[in-house]
Amino acid sequence: MKTAASESLFEKAKLLIPGGVNSPVRAFKAVGGSPLFIQKAKGAYLWDVDGNRYIDYIGSWGPIILGHADTSVVKAVKRQLEKGSSYGAPTELEVQLAEEVCRAFPSIEKVRFVSSGTEAVMGAVRAARGFTGRKKIIKFDGCYHGHADHLLVKAGSGAATLGQPDSAGVPEEFVSHTLIARYNDLASVEALFQKIPGQIAAVLIEPIVGNMGVILPRGNFLSRLRDLCHRQKALLIFDEVMTGFRVAYGGVQELYGIQPDLTCLGKIIGGGFPVGAYGGKKEIMSVVAPEGPVYQAGTLSGNPVAMVAGLVTLQILKKKNPYPELNKRTQKLTQGLEEAARTSAVSVKLGRAGSMFTLFFADKEIIDADSARSCDTKRFANFFQGMLREGIYWPPAQFEAAFLSVEHSERDVERTIGAAKNVLAVLH
Ligand code: PLP
Repeated sequence: MKTAASESLFEKAKLLIPGGVNSPVRAFKAVGGSPLFIQKAKGAYLWDVDGNRYIDYIGSWGPIILGHADTSVVKAVKRQLEKGSSYGAPTELEVQLAEEVCRAFPSIEKVRFVSSGTEAVMGAVRAARGFTGRKKIIKFDGCYHGHADHLLVKAGSGAATLGQPDSAGVPEEFVSHTLIARYNDLASVEALFQKIPGQIAAVLIEPIVGNMGVILPRGNFLSRLRDLCHRQKALLIFDEVMTGFRVAYGGVQELYGIQPDLTCLGKIIGGGFPVGAYGGKKEIMSVVAPEGPVYQAGTLSGNPVAMVAGLVTLQILKKKNPYPELNKRTQKLTQGLEEAARTSAVSVKLGRAGSMFTLFFADKEIIDADSARSCDTKRFANFFQGMLREGIYWPPAQFEAAFLSVEHSERDVERTIGAAKNVLAVLH
């Protein structure tokens, strides 16, 4: 495997960009080695600047559910580009995408588009505080909701990987209204409500977690959380930036039949372009400016290129309903991975929700941040490097989700299982 061109670009990048990357996890710090610089992508494959081809299981961290450079998305984007890339004025495309999002998520009656998942969650939390007149929010240890100051507390994803759950540069006062509960542990949420009654504006959660690796809600955790929020007159915010249109067309809330008060979306709804969205009941969303007093704005919000890419993506997903097939193929892959690990006597646990999954290098079930911390991250790093040499591009950190796209073929899956067998066999 040649890597000279990537290595040389990384050296140059480090002189110009902090750590050589524009988002920390891309730097391969958790797994060692030099990151690959990507030249192009098509379908399920990535090519780096040294000409190596990889089966891609990152999918841009979730958005690329149709595979890279989907022909219909590319066509629609090109057509839009010829008409202009941004107007700073409303377009019909925003109305169309809003209509589709509201149809897919019955809990969303009104939606506001922004430019990232981070912004979506910031907006939702601000709206929740504006609506309830309360200050405090509850989040869960290990859940990641973007890099807003007040949410960088006990955060998952890159923050967990780098051992920086509490970022420098965030004054204590900024996070003093953020309370931490334990995922899958309702009693930990109840205790916070009891401690400061009447002050909690919202409970914010990744209903299926992607950012400690994939962790599912156990038993009736989510429905009891829904009831608790109702009783306490606090809003329930589902952060479905990763799971929306991924685990099912209508996200976790469709799968579990639970209606949150507010929902955050991103990733897939931008079809590979920068988009986020937050929405919910009319009366809550009506606090958002210019209808109400909660300010939130954006130069590129509702950007027509991103809107059309998202719209075409959703239309294809709706028409083709690839979810059963994606589910089946992902299950085949994860079963193959588990079997390969068993054969090699390597302890693994699997977290999977539809086409997103994590292979945890652990002895016991992963149900929350504490159990996730028990993973053997060194062993994961060796697995990652081995898979890379086999031409498989895995998320470069243990606490991340891997994603399949509709373009991942039966053959890709078989090749991946074969590679895993080779790598796991020598992992000791
Ligand atoms: N919320 C969740 C659940 C996410 O997974 C992410 C990003 O991975 C975000 C929020 C932040 O989104 P973005 O990176 O687009 O700002």
